[in-house]
Amino acid sequence: MAYHRMMRLLLVEDELEIQGFLKASLADAGYVVDVAGDGKTAEGLASAKSYDALIVDLGLPDQDGIDLILRLRQLGVSSPVLILSARRSVDDRVRGLEQGGDDYLTKPFALAELLARLRNLLKRKASAAESPTILRVVDLELDLLKRRASRGDEVLSLSPQEFSLLEYLCRHAGRVVTRSMLLAEVWGMRIQPDTNVVDVHIYRLRGKVDTEGHEPLIKTLRGVGYVLKDR
Ligand code: CA
Repeated sequence: MAYHRMMRLLLVEDELEIQGFLKASLADAGYVVDVAGDGKTAEGLASAKSYDALIVDLGLPDQDGIDLILRLRQLGVSSPVLILSARRSVDDRVRGLEQGGDDYLTKPFALAELLARLRNLLKRKASAAESPTILRVVDLELDLLKRRASRGDEVLSLSPQEFSLLEYLCRHAGRVVTRSMLLAEVWGMRIQPDTNVVDVHIYRLRGKVDTEGHEPLIKTLRGVGYVLKDR
């Protein structure tokens, strides 16, 4: 269980109380933590150093955290991002995940949940690096080594989280996967929290995978879950 030792994190949070608490708690959990209190400082640090994951509050004094994430993605920073926010609306979640966030935690949150989600983001990153395999379903192809997804000649532009979700669906093609399975296996959540994170991601993913001119692959079974067509 020492896989997160020496993992380097960037915490972007302006509220001093939360910043201090998280920095101490993350250090206790064995992480090396750098802290930025605003977007500009965060951008400087993230461009200069390589982080295993970023934790980003959306309400920053100098800019919106979503704009920061978008900017970092444009700069080529591909580390997984856990978004922290007081905003609860589905629109805000969709927007955050769409702009390159990988997971979303609403304030107030339990430290245990933050640590679990963080471990999961880091674990997915590590296991992805160990799987030099290609998965194929109909004309959908996932290169697990390059983390690249395509349909026919079209490369799909997926967030790391969307890619993980699609990978899980591909590995279970033709079988029904429930929301609880996805929460447990893709998000590492053993207890089902009050979240629509699965639906939000499936919605986004379907918009990218099942585009016009392609046979729809992701099917919803109402009240049950999802199934990826296998042939
Ligand atoms: Ca804030």
